[in-house]
Amino acid sequence: MTMKPNLNLHIAEFIKSAASPDGFIDTELPQIIFAGKSNVGKSSVINKILNRKNFARVGASPGKTIHINYFLIDNKAFFVDLPGYGYAKVSMGEKKRWAKLIETYLNRDDGFNLGIFIVDIRHKPTADDIVMAEWFIQSGMPFYIVANKHDKLKKSQIEPAIDLIADTFNVPKGIIIPFSAEKGTGREELVRIIQNSLE
Ligand code: GDP
Repeated sequence: MTMKPNLNLHIAEFIKSAASPDGFIDTELPQIIFAGKSNVGKSSVINKILNRKNFARVGASPGKTIHINYFLIDNKAFFVDLPGYGYAKVSMGEKKRWAKLIETYLNRDDGFNLGIFIVDIRHKPTADDIVMAEWFIQSGMPFYIVANKHDKLKKSQIEPAIDLIADTFNVPKGIIIPFSAEKGTGREELVRIIQNSLE
């Protein structure tokens, strides 16, 4: 039986932000990649996983900061927070810079362990979300879709919402996790997936 390292999620440290490839961290450690559009709750999901309140930023000037944030977890793995996208007010130049940064990152073939792609459970995924899903698929890393803000839907709306997400991305429903960063719904399942991705 092989022992998997158990990640202590209470030991987390912000390491750096990278605004361009020369700032990317070279590491042998597993990397868990978080992506999603601005305001989808990406920072809130990371905070929820780590049981912190204000660790990853929440709600400050979305779209203004196009960089990749690195968090070192228990000295054993990196959480890599890709810049949020789809913010209406950013210029075409900024959108291109965002796309280039993420594509360059995901094309590094750097032994990524897991992608965590966050979408809003309430809405049909956007064109930008579809591009992001394609990048995850092309990268070859296993990824899960976190359907966040589950607390904002009525019970009867959840199943159709998951179906719409699965159909729009053309992915199996089994990779979609209903989640609420507010209430903690789905946290246990997501933590289990993260722990299982490390070997
Ligand atoms: P980011 O831009 O993707 O990092 O999004 P934030 O984490 O800053 O969250 C954007 C807004 O959505 C904030 O006002 C959060 O409080 C709110 N939010 C995030 N997750 C949830 C959730 O699961 N349920 C609800 N109701 N609100 C959420």
